[in-house]
Amino acid sequence: MKNNLLISLTVILFVLLIIFLSLNIKKEKETNKATSKENTIIEDIKKHYNEYVTTNKETILYKKENDEYIEAGKINKNVNLKLSNVEINVDTKYFYLPDLDLYINYIDVEPIEKYTKNSRFKNYIYFNSNIITKNSTTFYDVDNNYLYTLNDSFEFKILIKDEDRYGVVFNDELLYISNNDVEKIYDNLNTDLKNKSKIRTLTYHFIYNPEKQECDQSICQSLEQFESHLKYIRENNYFTLNMDELDMYLDGKLQIPEKSIVITIDDGTTLDLDAVKLLEKYDINATLFVITSWVDPSPYKSTNLDFESHTDNMHNQYECKGYGMQGGGILCLPEEQILNDLKTSQNKLGGSKYFAYPFFDFNDRAIALLKKAGFKMAFIGQYDTEGYSYPKKTDKYKVRRMTIFSNTSMEEFISYLK
Ligand SMILES: [Zn+2]
Repeated sequence: MKNNLLISLTVILFVLLIIFLSLNIKKEKETNKATSKENTIIEDIKKHYNEYVTTNKETILYKKENDEYIEAGKINKNVNLKLSNVEINVDTKYFYLPDLDLYINYIDVEPIEKYTKNSRFKNYIYFNSNIITKNSTTFYDVDNNYLYTLNDSFEFKILIKDEDRYGVVFNDELLYISNNDVEKIYDNLNTDLKNKSKIRTLTYHFIYNPEKQECDQSICQSLEQFESHLKYIRENNYFTLNMDELDMYLDGKLQIPEKSIVITIDDGTTLDLDAVKLLEKYDINATLFVITSWVDPSPYKSTNLDFESHTDNMHNQYECKGYGMQGGGILCLPEEQILNDLKTSQNKLGGSKYFAYPFFDFNDRAIALLKKAGFKMAFIGQYDTEGYSYPKKTDKYKVRRMTIFSNTSMEEFISYLK
């Protein structure tokens, strides 16, 4: 009897133990399940995070007020953004955009490689007038691609006065606002700096390495001479305009500092690759006018050198005898042939809006044909103004340039920068 009782108690205890253990195992399993679910969520959020991201659809921007996320505007697809550092946990729903002081849902962005913003606008001079936008403000990039709309009114200093838009600095970049979004424009003293009243464009031709090549024309420059010029320009902090900037400056849409200059190189036939490396070394911008049937400019590709048209194959002397100085083909060839040539050069360059006349030779018919082909600006030689151009005054199809020769002294060169 006593034994039976002992056995029963043991069995009961054993059963209780089993129940207890199995309950515990179940609980542990549930906890594991929860942890692994949380990890999956965190992993998923992390997949969207990087210092640099882009939006994967048109979506919403949020601002944070009293710990609530409130809609602050809309953003387009494929807009690049910078994120702040964030400790991602299972409750992370938004990423912070420090430059905009706004938030975006993590699910709306994808990581991208680092990108750098164009900072050339830091050389421009503000106009002494401001705009105030309406209650909703839409921002566009330079090519008028829609970026984002913020449900707010802003005040901006004007950096660019374009025909139907203003260039302003926002999010540490140059963005554009349509005139339609502007409520008010008023005078405001933003700067004492004065816009440069006239600008010179310099023309180089052949830049060569005397150790590898001979060059005995008056328009030859050794790499050493070219470098002495670039070094001076950099050490004296000159702003070297690209073609779009010169175009805007001549239209009165953009203001530039006193120390500004435009550098052009014609032909591309004798151009040592090290000349481009020198432009990069001193971070100076230049434009190469290429004769596209003679030269493939792709080896010269650089962020410091733009390619524009010097015709495809109209750079032959005395093709138009009795016309101009050296009778370039653009002076007299049949209209269709000229237009075809211009189009070919534009196609080879992937588009070109700026042109240099071969031998600086031009006439009214050539200008009309350039306009027809879509060119916005065309360059001649010094002509009558020693290479100067003036905002709102210079004919943009006769932009003057100053030629740099082998025997141009450093002193002369420096005087050309004024
Ligand atoms: Zn030429």
